[in-house]
Amino acid sequence: MHTHLVWLRKDLRIHDNKALYAACEDYTARVLTIFIATPKQWQQQNISKRLAAFMFDNLKLLANELLRLGIVLHYYQCANFAEQIDLLLTFCQREKIDKLFYNYEYELNESERDKEMKKRLPNNILCQGFDDGFLISPGSVQTIINKEMFKIYTPFRNACLHHLKENEPICLPAPAIRQKNMYQYNNKSISIITPFSYPSMLSEDYYVAGEKVGIYRLDNFFNKQLKYYSLQRNIAYLDATSRISAWLAIGVLSPRQCYHLLLKKFNFLGIINDINASTWLNELIWRDFYRHTMILYPKIFHHKHDPDIDISSWTKYIPWHNNKSVLFIAWCKGRTGYPFIDAAMRKLAKIGWINNRLRMITASFLIKDLLIDWRHGEHYFMSQLIDSDFASNHGSWQWAVGMDYNTNPYYRIFNPTLQGKKFDSNGNFIKQWLPELKLVPNKYLYQPHIWLKAQNIIVDYPYPIVDHSEARKRILNSYKIAYYKAARTSSGSYPLDQ
Ligand SMILES: Cc1cc2nc3c(=O)[nH]c(=O)nc-3n(C[C@H](O)[C@H](O)[C@H](O)COP(=O)(O)OP(=O)(O)OC[C@H]3O[C@@H](n4cnc5c(N)ncnc54)[C@H](O)[C@@H]3O)c2cc1C
Repeated sequence: MHTHLVWLRKDLRIHDNKALYAACEDYTARVLTIFIATPKQWQQQNISKRLAAFMFDNLKLLANELLRLGIVLHYYQCANFAEQIDLLLTFCQREKIDKLFYNYEYELNESERDKEMKKRLPNNILCQGFDDGFLISPGSVQTIINKEMFKIYTPFRNACLHHLKENEPICLPAPAIRQKNMYQYNNKSISIITPFSYPSMLSEDYYVAGEKVGIYRLDNFFNKQLKYYSLQRNIAYLDATSRISAWLAIGVLSPRQCYHLLLKKFNFLGIINDINASTWLNELIWRDFYRHTMILYPKIFHHKHDPDIDISSWTKYIPWHNNKSVLFIAWCKGRTGYPFIDAAMRKLAKIGWINNRLRMITASFLIKDLLIDWRHGEHYFMSQLIDSDFASNHGSWQWAVGMDYNTNPYYRIFNPTLQGKKFDSNGNFIKQWLPELKLVPNKYLYQPHIWLKAQNIIVDYPYPIVDHSEARKRILNSYKIAYYKAARTSSGSYPLDQ
């Protein structure tokens, strides 16, 4: 009898899990699963406490789901990836594993770890990896002329939609229940899932763990809210989006499951012809875009390791403020004197989730109004978000700086006051998160200092820490200088050349 091991990582589900499904295809094999938590590594990656707690809850549920299928989950903790490999190899020897299955992780440290693991895996253990966390596999769409990955989103999306139309992605079922005699286990073989040695923070009720909960939430969203999506998704007060990102971040749901759920309501053409369904799918495709970019253009993503050749190198010529500055702290704490920004940042700190519009505006404010290096914002978001995900977060922060000239040119600078008027027109969002402004009439909520001064009222709310129109001029000037300095020292082309 063969023994198969599935190494679970960011794929904590039983449906549409390529590695798990493949391991179970041989019905006669004994199938085990293993999850090895690496708290020290998470600390380095700045994984948020909320995501860690959500992961833990999901892991416990997954262990039960697997047991129902006759598959035991073995659970361990160790400090880092090096120890993780040692532990995995010892486990393989002890359990006489014949074949190891896993879904690829593409982040730099993770892929290095997997390479090292493969090098050290004894020859008698076969090893099979899968592209799992995508709508479409990396490399399956390419530019027509150069046959390479797209560097900008819009043509990527078009190619992706074409690909989806021609090749509907398969959504695998959960593996069948193992034959009874295959899963004879005793109490000793069942791991007790002890809490991670990592700070954890419980999130609001919304984030109840489980694949079934995720499916239920998404189905509910498609049935009730999707019809308002394109109209309401940016409205700050409404939370009119699916909020499924945390399930996707640790693979409790796969993007293919999400897509198939959408296909149940509309067929492909139905999605394309429905403004709300197609807008939602476009967002899911953004997620694939950042992941594909991370894999196929690692230099863009891992600029820290190769600062002179990546497309973001020009940002080193911008005279960024130090992250410990008063300005950065004011941004984190929601005390910039711009109520729409502050409400968003307080919500982020309180519940670990804000919608995409609020992420874009607060990121733009940090970079373009406060002139603070975007990497500090990226780091802070990572530590707060319940859906913290390296590819989406890093890619989005690069986007906010202006790396994607097509969808976010450098001169697009959000006006925090006008954005507030547009996406919180009745002031409900500001009033919810900034109770100290409850006296301020709606008309003045976006610039309360004007009214407070005129009324001679003192409240514990700061005066704007920067003047937006001055900041706008300053960043445009800084960008121009940075681009030209970079262009002089490089053969690459820069957005201002276009
Ligand atoms: C500065 C910044 C940082 C971000 N950091 C993260 C992060 O760490 N993790 C993360 O999952 N998303 C991140 N995003 C993308 C996006 O804001 C969130 O995915 C989205 O707000 C999650 O809410 P939702 O599930 O209700 O989205 P919905 O609007 O319902 O969209 C459905 C799904 O599509 C994907 N998606 C939506 N918008 C984007 C986008 N712009 N880029 C990539 N994928 C998208 C998500 O997986 C999302 O769950 C970031 C965006 C910005 C501007």
